[in-house]
Amino acid sequence: MITIQGKGVSTGIGMGPLYFYRRAKTELKRYTIEDTTAEWLRFKGAQAVAMEQLGELAEKAREEAGDEAAMLFETHQMMAEDMDYEEAIQALITEENLNAEAAVADTGDQFAEMFASMDDEYMKGRAADVKDVSQRILNILSGAVQGGIDSPVPVLLASDDLAPSETIQLDKSKILGFITSYGSSSSHTAILARTMGIPAIVGLGDQLDPIYEGRTVVVDGGTGAVIIEPNDEVFADFVKKREEQLQQRALLETLKGKENVTKDGKSIRVYCNIGSPEDVDAIKVNDGGGIGLFRSEFLYLNSSTYPTEEEQFEAYKAVLTGMGDKEVIIRTCDIGADKQIDYFELPKEENPAMGMRALRISLSRPAFFRTQLRALYRASAYGNLGIMFPMVTSVWEVRETKKLIESVKKELEAEGLPYSDHVEIGVMIETPAAAMISDRLAKEVDFFSCGTNDLTQYTLACDRQNNDLGRFYDPHHLSVIRLLKMVVENAHKNGVWVGICGELGADLEMTETFLAIGVDELSVTPRAVLPLRNKIRSIDTSVTTPAILASIESDETPKY
Ligand code: PEP
Ligand code: MG
Repeated sequence: MITIQGKGVSTGIGMGPLYFYRRAKTELKRYTIEDTTAEWLRFKGAQAVAMEQLGELAEKAREEAGDEAAMLFETHQMMAEDMDYEEAIQALITEENLNAEAAVADTGDQFAEMFASMDDEYMKGRAADVKDVSQRILNILSGAVQGGIDSPVPVLLASDDLAPSETIQLDKSKILGFITSYGSSSSHTAILARTMGIPAIVGLGDQLDPIYEGRTVVVDGGTGAVIIEPNDEVFADFVKKREEQLQQRALLETLKGKENVTKDGKSIRVYCNIGSPEDVDAIKVNDGGGIGLFRSEFLYLNSSTYPTEEEQFEAYKAVLTGMGDKEVIIRTCDIGADKQIDYFELPKEENPAMGMRALRISLSRPAFFRTQLRALYRASAYGNLGIMFPMVTSVWEVRETKKLIESVKKELEAEGLPYSDHVEIGVMIETPAAAMISDRLAKEVDFFSCGTNDLTQYTLACDRQNNDLGRFYDPHHLSVIRLLKMVVENAHKNGVWVGICGELGADLEMTETFLAIGVDELSVTPRAVLPLRNKIRSIDTSVTTPAILASIESDETPKY
């Protein structure tokens, strides 16, 4: 038994024989031509066929994996007809008398190198796309057929890397999982694997040795583990794990497209918490209704220096465009406490959870805050944006923030940069102070989002980082629930909606309580959306709510 470790990019367990992907071998022909016009027309003919094939693939992808997968091939169509790409090929044919195959191959390599050398991760990823498009045109020019799987039984498909068009053309009934030496979580193949629900592991490097071909292998797309020739015990464990996952998933799949509504007709919105633009795919796969919390500080944590306005703008725009007209709530930078970043040069504090963190830093460093607000407002033109502020304790903090927003909007207007007039503004309720003055805060904003991780920490005086506190850190504590109830009442009196974006939102033991106190939205990790929908649909609030409200008011709750 040999275990090799890669990066799991699509969850699930796959088990079966390992099979290495076979590519059609095309030897590149390189020669000089006399009739440059005829050669150019030969290229144009192949390009037209490629466009047609890509159109068909887009349709197939749309049926099998949705609009986003189809977009890959529509992007390939754009690349195949890109003016710069075409002009480079034309120059090689007409000025250097190169044959069409060599002109396409050289141009493809040159464009792929250019994309690969870019700093932007997304643009880097486009190198594989331009290679893929060029290979398609080359295959048409040389009459080669596409590669694939020549196996009578389903396999775990191994490869150095897989291009999106290779992935989508595969016979899905033959694939138990993908494992590749290269690739990243944002590569289109990973995106497709997730969309198709096929386990996938990338980044195995040299460990993925062709000598393993034909051997029995188990892959865990959650952990990134690949086990070659597992012993009986390990194999049985994975069979059990897979059964459990399949049963759970099949049940949940039936809930896609259904409403988050209780038996007695009460609905509640179920949104998602994410940390990077790449997570948008997971929201779609899990049928999330929007984004209730995008932790923008992950952009800062992933960077060795302050992300520029442009970098932030691109990231926010990607999330907003990815979500279409669905609501996207981005939280401004929540640095400090456990999330320390060297380049922020925060002063050393005895008790950082109660120190300079979140909005306190933003308000103390207006230039830094303005950069984020500018990026957010610029991105607001591309979707349905809400912005919220972490760690609020006072009304003046919100007012000062709103002043900054007004001045940023004026600045953008003067520069002729578009932004939306419908950005909702929210406050995170994660300190007891904010909960206690929620009647006043509600007059300043459009929504509240309760950060129950911190609200529990600050209400119960329990460091959320300290594992030893165990049962003392109890988000079910009556004090937390009473605060939440008060917040909802104050919000609704003022026409403000309330969400829960802390981990408690996904706690299925609490769903009846959230419905009872009138919470409008729960924002959870994408994989928790369908289990939560399942729970909501099983509840009859006309039965559960009266007892819950009575117990919140009662002075006889035994535990607290
Ligand atoms: C919270 O405190 O509940 C919250 C959602 O924010 P974070 O966990 O990022 O502090
Ligand atoms: Mg918090």
